[in-house]
Amino acid sequence: MLLYNSLTRSKNPFATHTPGRVEMYTCGPTVYHFAHIGNLRSYIMEDVLEKYLRYAGYDVNRVMNITDVGHLASDADTGEDKMLKGAKRENKTVMDIARFYTDAFFSDCEKLRIKRPDVVEPATNRISDYIRIIQGLLDKGFAYPAGGNIYFDTSKLKQYYVFHDHDEEDLAVGVRDSVELDENKRNKADFVLWFTKSKFEDQALKWDSPWGVGYPGWHIECSAISLKYNGEYLDLHCGGIDNAFPHHTNEIAQSESYLGHPWCPHWFHVHHLNTNSGKMSKSKGEFLTVSLLEEKGYDPLAYRLFCLQSHYRKGLVFSWENLDNAAAAYQKLIARVAALQDEGELDSTAAGALRARFREAMDNDLNTSMGVTALYDVLKADTNGRTKLALLAEFDAVLSLDLLEKAAAARQAAPQSAGADPEIDALVAARTAAKQAKNWAEADRIRDELKARGIELTDTKEGTTWRRV
Ligand code: AMP
Ligand code: ZN
Repeated sequence: MLLYNSLTRSKNPFATHTPGRVEMYTCGPTVYHFAHIGNLRSYIMEDVLEKYLRYAGYDVNRVMNITDVGHLASDADTGEDKMLKGAKRENKTVMDIARFYTDAFFSDCEKLRIKRPDVVEPATNRISDYIRIIQGLLDKGFAYPAGGNIYFDTSKLKQYYVFHDHDEEDLAVGVRDSVELDENKRNKADFVLWFTKSKFEDQALKWDSPWGVGYPGWHIECSAISLKYNGEYLDLHCGGIDNAFPHHTNEIAQSESYLGHPWCPHWFHVHHLNTNSGKMSKSKGEFLTVSLLEEKGYDPLAYRLFCLQSHYRKGLVFSWENLDNAAAAYQKLIARVAALQDEGELDSTAAGALRARFREAMDNDLNTSMGVTALYDVLKADTNGRTKLALLAEFDAVLSLDLLEKAAAARQAAPQSAGADPEIDALVAARTAAKQAKNWAEADRIRDELKARGIELTDTKEGTTWRRV
């Protein structure tokens, strides 16, 4: 599989330290608010990547943190902790906010058929690990105390800026809010590993440490959680493109300095979901959630299809019109799957050719829009229904559009005419005969019997149709 790597700035053949096994890490959500559908674009594409790796035969260990402390209003270590901001907004405790929005996040993931990672770890669970790593960095001379905080010294690195291909806007994320210059930093790019109360008096969650009561920086959380659950060699690290700098840049700086060897060779970044006014972001306050899509009558999986129809390395502009188009395409796709009859012998020649098209698309830097096209190729193919249904199920194990389940539900709900079920057809025919013989009592009795079996009849000029209710 060729996969674009932000570190090498090119598509590379994907390889792992241990053949057949992928140690995969994903930056989890900052749980101070609902995830917006932009955040979820990143998680959908990472989910497809994970599922495709499994489909390709890898054993995947996927780890995700939950950021419940240390992510400040600006990624450049300024402003208040986002969790505190959420707690003040809702007049609740930080832990209540964390619990509520973590549950909300996984409920949204469920609706979008995003698989829960193998390991999910709240950042507040691993404080002693951060302290151990920070101490290691201090011992090796990569960190220094200043003004009560512990900073990472970026001047000690041969190369600090490892990702150069993200655009100006992404690079600016780390600095645009930093109006207040931190006088403690030796170098502008240095970042905080551990904050003490000298930084913010009102931080809600604080822990004892060798450097005073305080709390960890956001970046150290991911390095430590990955080290704990993925081991010293990570194969694949994922996140939204805004995380490339400074967050991932800092993760690499800390992890490699602490470990003393290269850490993660492959970085997968999902580009932004944008609105007309730029990147959708929680801090702007105006964002769309899965619940809002549902309130407006959209199936969340129509949004998943909308995401799959574009490449993860391109910005995607959200508009209601674009979502309407995806929703219509989704309904048509389901109707076409529902029309397939499960009959015939499995046609392995046709299946092989169709499978090759799907794999070619996905092997080419996870080209999901071509992967979706491969679904239509199956529907159009000159082969029987059983083969088509088997292939759709196989591809949908990766794309997760619930095609077969939704098709089964559509078939149940759709009006049926003669041929759909011989037993019911016989009763409908008997009722028609009773009506023609003006035997109204018998006709009503049959209607009631069918009703009791969950069948609703509709009499039309062309005859009687029925559907399950
Ligand atoms: P956060 O909850 O802010 O820590 O972000 C969770 C994930 O969503 C991170 O991987 C971000 O990079 C990603 N993300 C944030 N905004 C967007 C967006 N507009 N489009 C796509 N991904 C995003
Ligand atoms: Zn992270």
